[in-house]
Amino acid sequence: MTDTIFNAPPRPTLAVAGSDSLFPVHRIYCVARNYEAHAREMGMQEREAPFFFCKPADAVVADGAVLEFPSRTENLHHEVELVVALAKGGRDLSVAAAGEAIYGYAVGLDLTRRDLQALSKEKGRPWDTAKAFDQSAPVSALTKQNGLVESGAIELRVNGELRQQGDLADMIWSVPEVIAELSTYFELQPGDLIFTGTPAGVGPIVPGDKLAAGIEGVGELNIAFA
Ligand code: MN
Repeated sequence: MTDTIFNAPPRPTLAVAGSDSLFPVHRIYCVARNYEAHAREMGMQEREAPFFFCKPADAVVADGAVLEFPSRTENLHHEVELVVALAKGGRDLSVAAAGEAIYGYAVGLDLTRRDLQALSKEKGRPWDTAKAFDQSAPVSALTKQNGLVESGAIELRVNGELRQQGDLADMIWSVPEVIAELSTYFELQPGDLIFTGTPAGVGPIVPGDKLAAGIEGVGELNIAFA
């Protein structure tokens, strides 16, 4: 029998609200600039096709965690986002098929080393060190919901103060449109998570901060930084 060189860690998982079942995470995809007000605050003028970046699956952090403050940044930013979890995959999905691939939804934080991202943009370098670092993807328990979630308040408070606020209805590209477009670049798989972009109000996090994120009808996510 063939042995492995070391014991590989198990797949990262997410809790499912109201259930003992775990959702095994395959990949984490993220869409950038999907709310008009945030696209403007990041300097964009016109609607453009969605573009994507990835985080490693093991960047997932569960609700309630206390995170170590990341290294190599003086400007860590919060981005509260609707996270979509896929129960089915495929390539070149139609918008209708994309909608049917959804398992459920969660509240996520696309943590970003904004200073490193700015440097990457300036130098034309990849975003990985800015976006795909360890513990960069806190995600709440999943709420199982096969249908579409097309509206609902999304917000983030830091130490009780409202920092980000928007509505899912203000997404430039709808969730099924994002999934369909993504499936033209990658063969999607059950277990994939997609961060769907952040509303306006992104800003810095400092050590000791407590973050409370919520999406109406989806759930809540609470994390803190040591
Ligand atoms: Mn984001």
